[in-house]
Parts: sequence; C-alpha cells; structure tokens
Amino acid sequence: REQVLGIDVGGTTVKWAVLDARTATVVVRGSIPTADDPHTVAAELAAVAETAAGGDTAAIGVGVPGHVDRRTGIVRFVPNLRGDWPGFPLAATLRASTGRPVTVLNDARAFCLAEWVLGAARGHDDALFLTLGTGVGGGVVSGGSLLTGPDDRLGEIGHLVHDRTGPRCGCGHRGCLETYASATAIARAAGLPTAEAAFEAATSDPAASEAVAAAGRAVGETIASLCAVLPADLLVIGGGVAAGLPQLRPHIEHALAERRDFIGAVDVVAARLGADAGAVGAALAATRIMTTDGGGR
Ligand code: BGC
Ligand code: ZN
Repeated sequence: REQVLGIDVGGTTVKWAVLDARTATVVVRGSIPTADDPHTVAAELAAVAETAAGGDTAAIGVGVPGHVDRRTGIVRFVPNLRGDWPGFPLAATLRASTGRPVTVLNDARAFCLAEWVLGAARGHDDALFLTLGTGVGGGVVSGGSLLTGPDDRLGEIGHLVHDRTGPRCGCGHRGCLETYASATAIARAAGLPTAEAAFEAATSDPAASEAVAAAGRAVGETIASLCAVLPADLLVIGGGVAAGLPQLRPHIEHALAERRDFIGAVDVVAARLGADAGAVGAALAATRIMTTDGGGR
C-alpha cells in the first residue's frame, strides 16, 4: 500500500492529508498553524512527515500560495505569507530532512488537480478553477491537460487586472481580481471583520451587499475575458469564500451571460473536495498522477 503525504501551506493554517495512492482516498488528515518563517515551516512539515501515518509515506507533495518553480522546488514569490520566502529551496530542504522525494507546486494548481482528477471537474477537458480565500488562486485545464507552464506560474487568474484604479494588491499592483474577490477584500469592502459576516449581512446591509456583488461581478467579468482566450464550459470555485457561492452566483452568471454569444455557456459549480482539496492535489502531484487517466505528466 503506497501512501503519499500532501500538504497545503495556507496563510494561517497548514493542512495535510495522507492519501492512499492506489484508491486515492484520504487515510488520515490534520492541520497546524502556519509559522512565521520558511525555515520553521519546513521543520514543522518534516515533523508532520515523520509522524503522519506512522511516518510511512513514500513521497511528499507541498502546495505553496505563490510562484514556485516546480523543476527546482524553489519558492519565488508569495504575496500573502509572512516571512522571507523568495529564494527558499523548499523541496531541497524537505528532501534533506525527510529522505523522501518532494514535489513542490502552487497551492491553486494543486487544488485544480484534485478537483479535476477526483472532484467537480472530473471528465471535463476544458475547465477553469478559482480558489477564493486569503488570496485568489487559479488553474486551467485545457484540451484535456492541466496547464502549468514550464515552472507552474500558469494560472495566476487572481492577478488579472479587473480595474487598474482599484485597491492595492498583495502583489504590489492595483485592482487585481484578488482585490475584489478574496476573503480579505470582501470583508474590507463590506466594512466587516470577515467575508462570512459580509455574506450574512448582504441581505440587509447595502455595503455588504455591494461588496458581494462587486466580488461576483469581478469573478464573472474576469472569467468571461479569460474564456475568450481559453474556452471552457466549467468554472469550479473553491476556497473559504466558496461558502458564499449561492450569493455570488447570480453576479458571476450575469457577467458570463453578457458574453455568452462570444464564449458559449459556462457552468459555475462549487468545488467538491472541501478543505482537503489542496492537500489531496499536492499528494496527487507527488504521485505524478497528473491526468484523469492516471498517466504521467
Ligand atoms: C497567489 C497565488 C495563490 C493564491 C491562493 C495568490 O495571491 O498569487 O499563487 O495560488 O493567492 O493562495
Ligand atoms: Zn495582484
């Protein structure tokens, strides 16, 4: 029985799951708070590898919320994590401390892989993916392949510019989709502490209602533009903010419908694997299961 450890490094929490590679089912899962610097995070991940599933894991996959060069396992750019991540050799560090093969990839590409192979986009050859959380991540399945580009940067849908006079983004620019549709952005625009509070207040409070509408419009308009380049018939939405999908949906669908003559119909669906998706996708990447038919990448 081959077990693979998948890890999803998030802004506040590191989630992990041990996947049985043969059945693609989660054997055991857990989470720890995200430490403040990459060295501590790497040490904690090594400790998880030693204890999870009795230390009996054949390979490790790690999803990181930013640019990572999948070929070298070096982290390049992380807009929403504390600590000095650029240049950190995450794969080599973990490989040295655990003695196991390590695959490092972008967190949203991991999510996309999981939802494509095992979740909401199963069987779809052309689909777009968004994770709405602390940041906004993306993924592209086109012509039956998960597109990653040479170094896994392909898919940064969250940093497509929606309005260049908009709010400042974690990437340093203004008005990216992320500055409208992330949890932080929705909460800030609503003047409330969390996105959940904004969704709750949206039926009665005008600022909350407008924040939710603006997030939905930004998602719909961005995806409509993207579909002109990368035709897709499915949009899968996950991440913490996806709990508010029923309220976002009409705004997303309205923007997509406005361009329907040009891009065709795009179904908007919720992710299916829940909070596990990122960790499961990282584990799949570590097993080199990169397509729905289980073939190599
Ligand atoms: C980063 C992406 C990441 C996403 C979700 C964005 O700000 O640029 O690389 O996938 O946040 O964590
Ligand atoms: Zn940005």
